[in-house]
Amino acid sequence: MLALFSFKPKIQVAHSKHPDKAGRLAVMTNQLQLVTPNTKVRLGLKKLLSIARKQDAVEAIAIFSVVFVTVTFLLDGGASFNGLYSYVDAVDRLTALVATDLLLIQTMLIARVPWLDKLYGHDRATAVHKKLGKPVLYLIIAHFLASVWAYAILDSKNVIAELVNMVLNVPDILTATLAFACMILVVVTSIKIARKKLSYEAWYLAHLLGYASILFAIPHEFSTGVDIYGKPVATAFWVGAYFFVAGNIVWFRFLNPIVYSFVHGLRIEKVNVESSDASSIYVSGSRLGKIGTKSGQFFILRVLTKDKWWRAHPFSISAAPTDKSIRFTVGIRGDDTKALQTVKPGTRVILEGPYGVFTEDRRTQEKVTLIAAGIGAPPIRALAENIAARPGDVSIVYRVRNADDAPLVEELREIARRRGFFLHVLDGKRAHNASWLPAGAGDQKPDHERLADLIPNIAKSDVYICGPAAWTHTVEKSLHKAGTPLAQIHAEEFAW
Ligand SMILES: Cc1cc2nc3c(=O)[nH]c(=O)nc-3n(C[C@H](O)[C@H](O)[C@H](O)COP(=O)(O)OP(=O)(O)OC[C@H]3O[C@@H](n4cnc5c(N)ncnc54)[C@H](O)[C@@H]3O)c2cc1C
Repeated sequence: MLALFSFKPKIQVAHSKHPDKAGRLAVMTNQLQLVTPNTKVRLGLKKLLSIARKQDAVEAIAIFSVVFVTVTFLLDGGASFNGLYSYVDAVDRLTALVATDLLLIQTMLIARVPWLDKLYGHDRATAVHKKLGKPVLYLIIAHFLASVWAYAILDSKNVIAELVNMVLNVPDILTATLAFACMILVVVTSIKIARKKLSYEAWYLAHLLGYASILFAIPHEFSTGVDIYGKPVATAFWVGAYFFVAGNIVWFRFLNPIVYSFVHGLRIEKVNVESSDASSIYVSGSRLGKIGTKSGQFFILRVLTKDKWWRAHPFSISAAPTDKSIRFTVGIRGDDTKALQTVKPGTRVILEGPYGVFTEDRRTQEKVTLIAAGIGAPPIRALAENIAARPGDVSIVYRVRNADDAPLVEELREIARRRGFFLHVLDGKRAHNASWLPAGAGDQKPDHERLADLIPNIAKSDVYICGPAAWTHTVEKSLHKAGTPLAQIHAEEFAW
């Protein structure tokens, strides 16, 4: 355990170039109320071991579930082959069992269940969810084709006639076919080219079909699935698995946010303009400390107005949380973020979360570098406010187009001044297409050298990066070249 103590500020930072603005901002920043910073933080890689152990346990359970369904299939004579039908039937049954199991795992990964989110973070969970997408689809296609073929062999029909027969006459096959169609739609809308063309809302609605697909498939599994129907152990396993997944989703995604938002009385308190295209939204409530939010985390914000209540969006908190208030800073990116700039005080909100592992919990080093671009500033600003640090321990790099119109820049200056952090506000156009740093003195050097010049201890720092996905990846490349180990790099991408 490393104890950190109070300190005197030692860094002076430049003020706004506009005298009027500088005057106004000086008043504003003097009034800036900051929480008391954390005084203790556990450092070193050892603390990550307990997270790794929990991850191992979760992964072991997931692998066990796949092994379990395969073993029950084998014990049930699934691999006793005798002619073409037995081979096709084996493919039909095994693909169904493994695909359904993986589909439930995939659903848990994307469901933003807090206890899983704490272990993996949403970015990592989403990456594994996406990786499982194709194998699950191929298994379901194989199951669909093999089941029609197997029935066709039994009934001595061609596969088209058999498919029609199954849909019309076999119990629950119509809903199972609907489930299959929904699944195809979900996968098609997830393909990169399609995703780029879809609005977030259209993509989100299409993905709700994923839940519909799982629900539509359930009846045929229990009524015609020979590996479940009439088998008490298998029935108990699958009923348990479905209740476990459904319980987590219904409670954490729907009931818990509604209950908590009303219990804590969450409402918009005020909206303050931060720059020409961003505002801070203050959400007030009572006993908010009980929610356990940490700087660097985000919530899914649902503003309960007549026309927008059904459209929720993720936003990081932009100030360290207090018992009475949670603040977001929202940049205009589309219709909803535009509407949020003028949302009325008093409007009720529902907050889902807090989510994310972009917090001090993942910090391992004494030195910390916080790197933000544009509207990536909110979580960086919140982290800077209460991170446990001595003067000079933290460097902040804020990459902006225009330093006079960058959200939260003056607050970052004030925090750096009060806490003795180094602040580098880097504005202007990029030095060249492959660079994330601005043109200017020294821009003939590669980014990683310029970064090391700016922050000499970068290889020994924990680095927190927040900004657009492509920009974040370029910064990560510079960090690798500058010698910062992977375990010390933490990124929050504002991507879905
Ligand atoms: C973890 C996380 C934290 C974020 N924190 C902040 C923040 O602190 N401040 C801030 O201004 N923005 C933040 N964002 C981005 C913000 O959620 C989107 O800008 C916002 O949802 C856009 O909504 P819109 O309807 O106005 O725009 P749209 O027209 O729907 O989309 C504009 C852009 O935002 C993206 N987008 C839209 N909806 C979402 C969504 N639900 N999730 C992710 N991306 C989306 C789209 O891909 C598109 O590029 C964060 C995103 C994520 C994933």
